[in-house]
Amino acid sequence: MFGRKVAAVSATLVTLAWGGAALAEAGKPAWSYEGDNGPARWSALASEFAVCGAGKEQSPIDLGVADAPGKQPRVVVEYKPLPLTILHNGHTVEVVVANGSRIVLDGKPYELLQFHFHTPSEHKVDGKAYPAEVHFVHRSAEGGLAVIGAFIDGTAANRALADIVAYAPTTATAPRTYTWVTIDPSRIMPPPTAFWSYGGSLTTPPCSEGVRWMVQKAPLPLSREHIAALSKAMGPNARPVLPVGARQVAAPR
Ligand SMILES: [Zn+2]
Repeated sequence: MFGRKVAAVSATLVTLAWGGAALAEAGKPAWSYEGDNGPARWSALASEFAVCGAGKEQSPIDLGVADAPGKQPRVVVEYKPLPLTILHNGHTVEVVVANGSRIVLDGKPYELLQFHFHTPSEHKVDGKAYPAEVHFVHRSAEGGLAVIGAFIDGTAANRALADIVAYAPTTATAPRTYTWVTIDPSRIMPPPTAFWSYGGSLTTPPCSEGVRWMVQKAPLPLSREHIAALSKAMGPNARPVLPVGARQVAAPR
């Protein structure tokens, strides 16, 4: 167990060094998705996690509250292919991207840092969860975060995701690069055209707010076998939905 813990911590440190969004875990209490360290207790585990409980703009949410198309941001996607670098941080399987891939959101560039997976989905629609969800995490030069999410359902094979599933670590490990495996983020996440958008937070401690969320209306396909493999590698890692409160959620057009 000790060796595994060391591996998880070093993966976090490397992620931070790479600019990943698995923010500030090193030296913090262990958190998890169940039991005494589960989501309902995150805010009590460390003062830095207080917003997980006290925050009024937390993620995920049930997107079904949005009943009318709202004003959506303009988003232009500029992703580029790169060799696969993948890690398991003890909570999720994460692909590290550091090659200048970016989105331009209402005229402001946000660099793609990484993308990672949740099984089942974190967002819901009218109470319904999907088998999985992928989050593309972007950061602006000023440190603002923007996440494009997409549901994943078990309807069909997905060649763009198959390599990631094939190389996904099944236990916590530092990043490994497979130079002979090229991934193309634009073939995994289509440019958002129909999507929900709202202001929310990181869905893992420290649950920092001010995150611009866009969740694609159309789910991505992935074979049931590949979803099961991801789920087995990560275990259930979905934070329950939080109250929408006073926020406006823009529905897909
Ligand atoms: Zn996520």
